[in-house]
Amino acid sequence: MNLAIYPGSFDPFTNGHLDILRRALSLFDKVIVLVAVNSSKKSRFTTEERVASLREALADTPNVEVDSWEGLTVDYARQKGAKHIIRGLRAVTDFEYEFQLASANRFAAPEIDMVFLMASSEHSFVSSSVVDELQKNGADVSSLVPSAILRLYEKKRR
Ligand code: ADP
Repeated sequence: MNLAIYPGSFDPFTNGHLDILRRALSLFDKVIVLVAVNSSKKSRFTTEERVASLREALADTPNVEVDSWEGLTVDYARQKGAKHIIRGLRAVTDFEYEFQLASANRFAAPEIDMVFLMASSEHSFVSSSVVDELQKNGADVSSLVPSAILRLYEKKRR
């Protein structure tokens, strides 16, 4: 089986992430969406909240699994027997960071390759922080995130 890992903070998961995931699913038999646990990075939502809302958002999407992991993504990929890691690229500003990350991954696991998918134009401005900023200031973000994420915001507000 041709398996790929799509890792990220997903804090929260947006329709930009969903677009990359859907396109990755046309290239691979199965994709594991991996919520990266980074204790040194301040997050809006807990790992548990991110995993649960992602599972809800992707419940009807076949060939997808949601998991979380603290440590190197390549170690998770190795453990699962995955040879590819998916990442998305928006603007040139993403490139430098992603290139460095890809080089570090190659250093740690030369047998695993990164696959980059370019953001669709309608999602090129969408990031977790942009969504969060809009949402916090009362903008309607329902076209930018899956409804499970809207419910997560709602739950957090109460
Ligand atoms: P990280 O903190 O690991 O960068 P993110 O959740 O911000 O995690 O993003 C995960 C991956 O998805 C990254 O490769 C990022 O560039 C990509 N991504 C984020 N938003 C979009 C978008 N709107 N379109 C395409 N790719 C995106």
